[in-house]
Amino acid sequence: MLRHVDDAREVNCPYCFEAVALFVDPETRGTFVEDCEVCCRPWQVHVSRELDGSWFVTVSRAQ
Ligand SMILES: [Zn+2]
Repeated sequence: MLRHVDDAREVNCPYCFEAVALFVDPETRGTFVEDCEVCCRPWQVHVSRELDGSWFVTVSRAQ
């Protein structure tokens, strides 16, 4: 399967506020935890997908 630009979103870390490109697998949806590349603190990432194939991501502090 070809990888294309729509696999990534730029998000801002809720801890250090750096803009980081977050790559999300095409099958991924729901909530998971990923460490910030910059400060290594844990994000809670939520991926939402629409029926038309568009998707968006929100990042918050994992507790
Ligand atoms: Zn960070």
